[in-house]
Amino acid sequence: AETHMSDDCIFCRIVDGEIPSRTVYEDDAALAFLDANPLTMGHTLVVPKDHYERLDDIPAAEATDFYGALHEVVPAVEDALDVPATTVAVNNGEAAGQEVPHVHAHVVPRSADDGAGP
Ligand code: 5GP
Ligand code: ZN
Repeated sequence: AETHMSDDCIFCRIVDGEIPSRTVYEDDAALAFLDANPLTMGHTLVVPKDHYERLDDIPAAEATDFYGALHEVVPAVEDALDVPATTVAVNNGEAAGQEVPHVHAHVVPRSADDGAGP
């Protein structure tokens, strides 16, 4: 099935390189890039390269690849920003605050008393 919809979707266009972004991590299945409007310095978004709207739309076999990317990105962001923690969050559906309909995990560098919690 053709799941890549680069014409309609801003994150597909980032995956395709049509819209510039600051790449943090890339593998065959996923891309991580800096959020354009960061909650804290180093706020990163992790997306599957294929277009799925919601977390639960990712087929199980591909979900393990997406989690594998998160597993790499989370410690890499903590190391790069020298923070002890991250908030990792998915707004899964419009009513939860999902504004871009291409599944993405927020990886937000955190430290105590930064006031940036969800
Ligand atoms: P949501 O509210 O859908 O969970 O989060 C969407 C996120 O995407 C927001 O944090 C927003 O700043 C980010 N964002 C929206 N458009 C762009 C863009 O064109 N480039 C980048 N790097 N981030 C974007
Ligand atoms: Zn997309």
